Amino acid sequence: MRETNFLTENNARHIWHPMAHPAEMLANPPRIVKSASGVDITDIHGKTVLDGVGGLWNVNLGYSCEPIKKAIRDQLDELPYYSAFRGTTNPPLIELSYELAAWFKEDGLSRAFFTSGGSDSVETCLRLARQYHKVNGQPERTKFVALKKGYHGTHFGGASVNGNANFRRNYEPLMPGVFHLAAPYPYRNPFGTEDPAEIAAAIARQFEDEIAFQGADTIAAFIMEPVLGAGGIMVPHETFMPLMRAICDKHGILLIADEVITAFGRTGAWSGSRLWGVKPDLMSTAKAITNGYYPFGAVMIADKIADAFESNKNATGSIGHGYTYSGHPVGAAAALATLKEMKRLDVAANAGARGEELLAGLQALRKRHELIGDVRGKGLMCALELVTDRVTKAAAPKDAVQRLQDAAYEAGVMVRTSGSNIIISPPLVITATDVNRIVAALDAGLTAAA
Ligand code: PLP
Repeated sequence: MRETNFLTENNARHIWHPMAHPAEMLANPPRIVKSASGVDITDIHGKTVLDGVGGLWNVNLGYSCEPIKKAIRDQLDELPYYSAFRGTTNPPLIELSYELAAWFKEDGLSRAFFTSGGSDSVETCLRLARQYHKVNGQPERTKFVALKKGYHGTHFGGASVNGNANFRRNYEPLMPGVFHLAAPYPYRNPFGTEDPAEIAAAIARQFEDEIAFQGADTIAAFIMEPVLGAGGIMVPHETFMPLMRAICDKHGILLIADEVITAFGRTGAWSGSRLWGVKPDLMSTAKAITNGYYPFGAVMIADKIADAFESNKNATGSIGHGYTYSGHPVGAAAALATLKEMKRLDVAANAGARGEELLAGLQALRKRHELIGDVRGKGLMCALELVTDRVTKAAAPKDAVQRLQDAAYEAGVMVRTSGSNIIISPPLVITATDVNRIVAALDAGLTAAA
């Protein structure tokens, strides 16, 4: 390996990183992660810390999952690539589609469209939603409704439904015909209440109001994350998603569940939709589907949508969309091995149990650290929102958030920052001891940041 200065300087010189300012790379260089094992990562200086980020909410089984690594190696030997565009397919992909149909049967989803990641999956959902209405004889249904604080990736469609200015402003104008409702965010919202059920009802009223204003017959779909992730972890009240489902049904609007983070156990249930007892029309997945070891994703499709396309014999039903890597055999083999391991280890149950311990630990920290304004979480997706004043809720400055992250790292745990939020999303295989390590490191970080 080259020496540290070479790596840092050339990283700054030649790499533009996602979600980072290229001009900051030398003054504030990224940590260079060299290796990983179990739930730990090791940097080029030899420091090993628990990965409280879980890669990027995707390495749910940790870094030493041999069956997935072997499946990738074996598939590279057998068939390293072939296209799944019309005319060809491959055995691991077919087997995966069979397993996914069983996995998501309870969610009412039986067909899969494969992608190379989360943004691709969201884009696919948006396109299929519009096309469904064309197939169904309602071509004027083209608009989308989404939530503020929602995150749906970075393609133009996804960016257009994103509910955070940071991911929109520099890329405007985005897709027209997208409307945003308030986020289910008790700590900050326009409704003058912190009651999650009241907030759910208020957003549902906003939705009805927007539908009346736009005209139901112009709206293709409503998209939401069952638990909002990158926007700062917002856990809606249990009534929220069912309410939105009912409104969609009443007006012929499709419900897209963006489960790029929540599918495969992170919330403590095997899907976020299942957590809330809702059956979506389209579900975007990616990330944990291959445990982060291979870029891959799947859009799961409900029978209603599938029937409309499959019974349509003209060009409107033909899918003019897809990626070179839609149905990559190595990704499919990785996903098959991942599904098997997730089930064997019952990681959803562990995420639920460890998540409760983690949330309790974070709530205890809030009692001792004034810097914490709010604590939120479901399963192993949790956040601390940092404020300088609990009464005014003024956001903590960037340098305090950075100090916390650095001190937590020194104390042995990597966490992620997003604005004034600290996001904690470790692998789902962590133990109770690991939970204590995370809480202790955050404790040290909060002391350093105060
Ligand atoms: N949708 C959600 C809910 C996400 O959290 C993300 C990424 O974090 C995406 C879409 C985009 O996924 P990707 O970064 O793999 O393109």
